[in-house]
Amino acid sequence: MLVVHKYGGTSVGSLERIDNVANRVAKARDEGKDLVVVVSAMSGETNKLIEYAHHFSDNPAKREMDMLLSSGERVTAALLSIALQAKGYDAIAMTGRQAGIVTDNFHTYARIESIDPKPMQEQISKGKIVIVAGFQGINKDGSVTTLGRGGSDLSAVAIAGALNADQCEIYSDVDGIYTTDPRIEPNAKKLDTISYDEMLELASLGAKVLQNRSVELAKKLGVKLYAKSSFSDNEGTLITQESNNMEAVLVSGVVLDKNQARVTLRGVADRPGIASEIFNKLADANINVDMIIQNVGSDGLTNLGFTVPQSELENAKSVIESFATDIEGMDFDANVCKVSVVGVGMKSHSGVAAKAFSVMAQNNINIQMISTSEIKISMIIDEKYGELAIRTLHEAYELDK
Ligand code: ASP
Ligand code: MG
Repeated sequence: MLVVHKYGGTSVGSLERIDNVANRVAKARDEGKDLVVVVSAMSGETNKLIEYAHHFSDNPAKREMDMLLSSGERVTAALLSIALQAKGYDAIAMTGRQAGIVTDNFHTYARIESIDPKPMQEQISKGKIVIVAGFQGINKDGSVTTLGRGGSDLSAVAIAGALNADQCEIYSDVDGIYTTDPRIEPNAKKLDTISYDEMLELASLGAKVLQNRSVELAKKLGVKLYAKSSFSDNEGTLITQESNNMEAVLVSGVVLDKNQARVTLRGVADRPGIASEIFNKLADANINVDMIIQNVGSDGLTNLGFTVPQSELENAKSVIESFATDIEGMDFDANVCKVSVVGVGMKSHSGVAAKAFSVMAQNNINIQMISTSEIKISMIIDEKYGELAIRTLHEAYELDK
């Protein structure tokens, strides 16, 4: 059995913790597993290096940043290998380059283009535990590149895919994915299993646990992914392909996104091309539009609403103001949040959305916008009711049971 482990910054945040990881890896080894272990930099290390660079320049060259930042993961990889060797285990630390990871040229947010599995396979066949510095590769010119913040998860998944590993276990200080944020609802329950698509929809729940790009890649490559804690022996959450019995569960989780702002355009000229003009301009300004709602027009006019991240509202305003002559009125609200109910079971059950609306009605919460997909219902509501909505939805769908 070949297993990829990945340990995040907190899990390797001190020498003691690296020792703890070494013991966990050694235990898996004793169980007879072949192992590739991907590590992050020690917690705080990447931020510290970024600060160092900014001591000299507000705008350091990205190539040099990659030289700098990739060092954090190398330190951890080497230390873990040394710790394992000291315990009598045969281990070898490798940089991204040595592990055969080739990326494109986009320094500081490179994409993995290919992984040559041979160098790692060769070491595994010699009986070694392979430790790989996460978050990095090289481009075709041979320069070091990094994969964007949180990129070690992506390294781990890509390596698991390239080696055809049986599973990829991502270790952090959280023991899995929960039905909602336990800081909002203390009765939140850890999920045993969840589908890739649900995980992607629950991104903000998983953000601390799993980088989104790594979940997308795991789905694409069919990598069996576990989110586990390096501080317990808890089973964690399995993120995998959707199966029929997942549909028996109506709803897997409810999630609150506070970083939302609403834009409503009233009396928009109802003619072909208007949406294209507005949203292309927003895209050109690099504004991430999330929910979009438009109704059937009357008298040549229609209403158009959408949401953007709160931090991009001012930007969106100035883009929209350039359309002032095509629009009767516009209104902006930064004090909204998005509440979403997620579950693959929705595909085969009716009444899931109706229940969410009833919960809002019982709490006298006005729903400003609604959007749905096959596995998700999202509602834009006043920000001050966000947590109440989450708690009552959690109860209504019996997620605490
Ligand atoms: N050390 C990098 C970061 O802090 C990559 C990672 O930890 O996944 O973003
Ligand atoms: Mg992380």
